[in-house]
Amino acid sequence: MSDPSAAARARLSNFWRRALVGLFLVGLFGALALRNREADDAADHSDAQQHLLYDEIYALGTLISFTVWVDDPAQRAAAGAAVDAIERQLHDFDRQWSPWGDGLLGQFNQALARGEAAALPAALRDLATRSFALSATSGGRFDPRIGNLVKLWGFADPPYPSSPPQASAIDQQLDALRRAPTGYDGAEHWGPAPGVAWDFGAIGKGEALRQASEALSGHGFSAHIINAGGNLVTSGARGDRPWRVGVRDPRASNQTTYFAALETAGKEAVVTSGDYERYFEFQGRRYHHILDPATGLPPAELRSVTVLGADAAAADAASTALFVAGQRWPEVAAAMGATQVLVVDASGALAVTAALQPRLRLQPGLTARRVELPSP
Ligand code: ADP
Ligand code: MG
Repeated sequence: MSDPSAAARARLSNFWRRALVGLFLVGLFGALALRNREADDAADHSDAQQHLLYDEIYALGTLISFTVWVDDPAQRAAAGAAVDAIERQLHDFDRQWSPWGDGLLGQFNQALARGEAAALPAALRDLATRSFALSATSGGRFDPRIGNLVKLWGFADPPYPSSPPQASAIDQQLDALRRAPTGYDGAEHWGPAPGVAWDFGAIGKGEALRQASEALSGHGFSAHIINAGGNLVTSGARGDRPWRVGVRDPRASNQTTYFAALETAGKEAVVTSGDYERYFEFQGRRYHHILDPATGLPPAELRSVTVLGADAAAADAASTALFVAGQRWPEVAAAMGATQVLVVDASGALAVTAALQPRLRLQPGLTARRVELPSP
């Protein structure tokens, strides 16, 4: 999940980014204060700034921002220290949950690669048990055994490739998956499963965010939003206002063009799987990092799936599974208990579940088809 050189760059540039953002805000509010009409707004905003701590770190393969609301501005330094502690925890997840490194999951996968029944360290059993349970309810569309298929496609590590793998190599992977056990119930060993490696890439970010949010609340900062590249968790509120989050336009060239916004209430996660995160184009077709375990190919029916839910890990697994399901996403959503879903299909058309629709604010001119989920 991590890229050490990017982490180092992020660390080096952190100071300057904060300094520049600070300067920008000072400049911005200075300029606003000169204009009478906007002076009140600026005063409100800078008052709110006193209660906000903003920090950015690099972990889970992405830039993660923390926005913490503190009732007493004097608590901002303590909130910063809590974020530092959580950063260390997230770096540990990077190491332990990477399928290919020398951490716990990496060692487990190495044992599988030797053709052995591999011992699963106690620290991974909970996440593994949850993953396989979610895999079952997804009908195997979310599949934590998918590591070698992801590696074959070249999406395990940048740089990403420029052409798809041979069809025969994909078939070999599909065979290995068919022969391997499909379940895991918390036992000490799993396998043997020749040719298979585990990968928590589609659930790990959600689980890490869930734990980070709990930890931050445990430090006494229960009003926050933690945003890992558009996958985020919120807790509490921004003072007397709800947190407001944007959903990224899957075809925008930057990460800050939103086509929809919603307000969160208390502890919630908003997780998106899309075809725009990691991809390459080959002969006019887009190939991305979410793979259908049934065909071995990246599904092309949808551009993005956003799932909102109370549990970030479950929302993360569901967003991947629904993406794989394509146009059949409503039945998989029902089976997984994902009731609040927003989908952009390959033509750019929007669909939203009845449960999410009342909360969603679309950009002017956009409409979303309303979908009633079938009973599971
Ligand atoms: P992101 O991590 O970009 O937010 P996802 O949550 O959808 O997006 O996770 C994609 C990652 O999960 C891939 O990089 C890969 O490691 C893994 N993966 C890809 N397809 C599947 C799948 N069908 N089931 C489980 N994991 C998958
Ligand atoms: Mg996911």
